[in-house]
Amino acid sequence: MRKILVAGNWKMHGSKAMVDALTRGVLEGVESTPAVDLAVFPPNLFLGQVQALAEGTRLNWGAQTLNPHAEGAFTGEVSAAMLRDFGCRYVLVGHSERRSLFGESDADVAARFEAAVAAGLEPVLCLGETLEEREAGATEAVVARQLDAVIERVGAAGFAQATLAYEPVWAIGTGLTASPEQAQAVHAFLRNKLVALDGTIGGQTRILYGGSVKPANAADLFAQEDIDGALVGGASLTAEDFVGICRGAS
Ligand code: PEP
Repeated sequence: MRKILVAGNWKMHGSKAMVDALTRGVLEGVESTPAVDLAVFPPNLFLGQVQALAEGTRLNWGAQTLNPHAEGAFTGEVSAAMLRDFGCRYVLVGHSERRSLFGESDADVAARFEAAVAAGLEPVLCLGETLEEREAGATEAVVARQLDAVIERVGAAGFAQATLAYEPVWAIGTGLTASPEQAQAVHAFLRNKLVALDGTIGGQTRILYGGSVKPANAADLFAQEDIDGALVGGASLTAEDFVGICRGAS
């Protein structure tokens, strides 16, 4: 039985005051939600602050990306070991904004995934097609290519402590959400690929949906067989909405 994971990607939003209020609001609000697993992904500067507030609670935290090198002359970058030092459990890899705005290729994403696993972080691998790719009937080919690049690098064993997040690019930050059926179809496709690789790992790996998830649509998404939670952008910036999405798991 896979437990629902609700994860908030705060992207490049926040201030010390906002992080304090949001983290406290989430911690308070989730006391009355079902026992979902929880994670937030603040900007790196605020990881220590979230750690101080959330250590010893149900709330986990992680970073939005990492550099695959262990250390060295990589100005501005942050390594997996540094994230571990700040208590991170998770790290996002391959978010569509990293792929499209910062030029991360499938190979770059695979290297980051491998570095995360090697350091004991749990990578959340983001996959998804653009609107043009969906309209061209290429959704499965695109997510298969993105997943295969990582499989080739780490094999089935690399997914033992990993999560997938199917995030159709056309649904991120647009207010458009994939219907539960559309999302389920891609989730089932991804799960079948993992199951073909390793039945146990394929059966236990959580596959989150991301793309304009809100309190109003969370329950219908979570009711799908292969949707095991949500990666939430905009709606994770208010405690009320984030907690409302957690309630969708009941
Ligand atoms: C995201 O960026 O991962 C995301 C899903 O954003 P939003 O919920 O705002 O669409």
